[in-house]
Amino acid sequence: MKAAILYEPNTPLKIEDVEIDDPQANEIMIKLEAVGVCHTDLSFMKGEMPIPTPIVVGHEGCGIVEKVGPGVTSVQPGDKVVSMVAFSCGICRYCAEGRPTLCLEYLNVMMMAELPFFAGKRVHKGDQYMNQLFGLGSFAEYCVVHERAVVKIQNDAPSDVVCLLGCGVTTGIGAATNTAKVRPGESVVVYGVGGVGLSAVMGAKLAGAGNIIAVARSQNKLDMAKELGADHVINPREVDDPVARVKELTGGMGADVAIEAAGVASVIEQSFASIHNGGRCIVAGMAPMTATTSFAPFEFLLGKTIKGTVQGDIVSSIDVPRLVDMYMAGKLPIDKLITKSFSLDQVNEAFEAMENKEVLRSVIKI
Ligand SMILES: [Zn+2]
Ligand SMILES: [Zn+2]
Repeated sequence: MKAAILYEPNTPLKIEDVEIDDPQANEIMIKLEAVGVCHTDLSFMKGEMPIPTPIVVGHEGCGIVEKVGPGVTSVQPGDKVVSMVAFSCGICRYCAEGRPTLCLEYLNVMMMAELPFFAGKRVHKGDQYMNQLFGLGSFAEYCVVHERAVVKIQNDAPSDVVCLLGCGVTTGIGAATNTAKVRPGESVVVYGVGGVGLSAVMGAKLAGAGNIIAVARSQNKLDMAKELGADHVINPREVDDPVARVKELTGGMGADVAIEAAGVASVIEQSFASIHNGGRCIVAGMAPMTATTSFAPFEFLLGKTIKGTVQGDIVSSIDVPRLVDMYMAGKLPIDKLITKSFSLDQVNEAFEAMENKEVLRSVIKI
């Protein structure tokens, strides 16, 4: 089968013929149909996040279960599944208390880039085994993953849309609805409106936010933010001080909620500065691992909160099928985020288009 492999950070992905082993206990093989092109892949590909190589990248996959290994009970061949960026084991203290995106096993899976519970890798070229980003490795014709890494969804949902629920869209919607717990009428500012930020705008709207403000440097993204529910947009290229503009738009106070989805340390500081006393600032973007931020501790005495989020604090087995239902019912237009699709052979072009800001979100159709 074909797979897109990163041999070294900052080099193009190589599309190569590789072999894939059968699923072992509690694992499944997926025939991939569509995979979202996410900025998180790029952070690893550029070495901003540490990663073992060689590695099959890609993590927003949707496809059909081809085979199941011994002991699999949650899905069967023929089921349509979306793979989740944040693995959850189901038994650790975080999983037990209903916070599966904080699962203790997830960090191992992310750092080791192999199957959960140190179960190794299934893709190889001769005897050289490839790592699998997030234990997935979705830029490929097939992947073998743990059964708990996927959510079963309705078979008639379009794979090239709902694949985005594996990471970016759930992160953004969940940041607004779960992490910030936006209440009807609240003001929400979203910094950075790529896939995650636009989804945060949709999440704020779903939650009934009163005033939604989007901040971004590209006009096409701001236009889409308006279409998806933003009441005001701010382009920092045109405004001296976006924080002052947010305050102006929120009665001089600042917003109830700020969501940072740009993954830039200085933007996290701007987001925190944009909330009023007692407000909540949610960091959903992925800044480089070595980045640092600074705040005046006095601001915490004003009751301000800053909080991180992993995949929008979702419970994937409950939230993903619900969001698919909402999309299918026309209540959640996530298809509007997708402005281009590519073939697996064009995966490097897809990342170029992302870096050149030619696309909101693109999808690899396999
Ligand atoms: Zn767990
Ligand atoms: Zn992602």
